[in-house]
Amino acid sequence: MIDFILANEREIYSVSYFLALTAVAVWEMAAPRRALTQSLKRRWTGNFAITILDIIVIRLVFPMAAVGMALLAEDWRFGLFNLINAPFWIAAVVSILAIDFARYLQHFLLHHWSPLWRLHRVHHADLDYDFTVGLRFHPLEGLYSMGFVVAAVMLVGAPPAVVALMEAATAISGVFVHANARLPLGLDRLLRTLIVTPDMHRVHHSTARVEQDSNYGAVFPFWDKLMQTYRPQPAAGHQGMSLGLPEMRDEQCLGLSWMLTAPFLPQPQNRAAERSS
Ligand SMILES: [Zn+2]
Repeated sequence: MIDFILANEREIYSVSYFLALTAVAVWEMAAPRRALTQSLKRRWTGNFAITILDIIVIRLVFPMAAVGMALLAEDWRFGLFNLINAPFWIAAVVSILAIDFARYLQHFLLHHWSPLWRLHRVHHADLDYDFTVGLRFHPLEGLYSMGFVVAAVMLVGAPPAVVALMEAATAISGVFVHANARLPLGLDRLLRTLIVTPDMHRVHHSTARVEQDSNYGAVFPFWDKLMQTYRPQPAAGHQGMSLGLPEMRDEQCLGLSWMLTAPFLPQPQNRAAERSS
């Protein structure tokens, strides 16, 4: 099983990512949560264009990606579980939690350190919320996130097959949590005990700062509850809440050129100052 995962990790990642995109796109059409306000053609052109660019840039800078670095750490006997003789299941559970916590931490820092927020606001500036928002990141944020996760993987000495599964799980979750789709409330409550749901993550895309600075989790909801950054619902409700950035309501933020240059444009002084602490 482990050998199969490692031999086919690229295929597992690509197939699960593609299936998640297709399934969520169909789900959004069948049961939309909110009415979209912007032209789908305009938003999707920008969001898919930056996604393709991200994939190229990240592959160029990190050709081995997280799994390759985990294999390298194994060869070098670097990182906790490559140094001690722990049972595989313990190494697997601790690594899964450590990788997801690293993602929580890197996301928290994106919101709380001004230079990183400049990158991350590209993700938050979309005026609507659907699965393509989960693909919309500035390439420099993609590099920062990958670097952060690679560092965590190597320090923990995570088993490469576990890293491969977590990479696929995180990609699926990234598409799922940005779904503009309805889940029965009871099912949402049940799922939230184990994984982040679209209703939970939508709160994070509110224009209200207090809501934006909550629900950072990638796959598991535990970290937000543990670190007291959990906010169950938006104050204005899922239909009434406003999405995006209060300072960026112009639809030019949907275009590729704005997305690529946004980190280098002047920021509103009050917002920049808030984030620099
Ligand atoms: Zn965020």
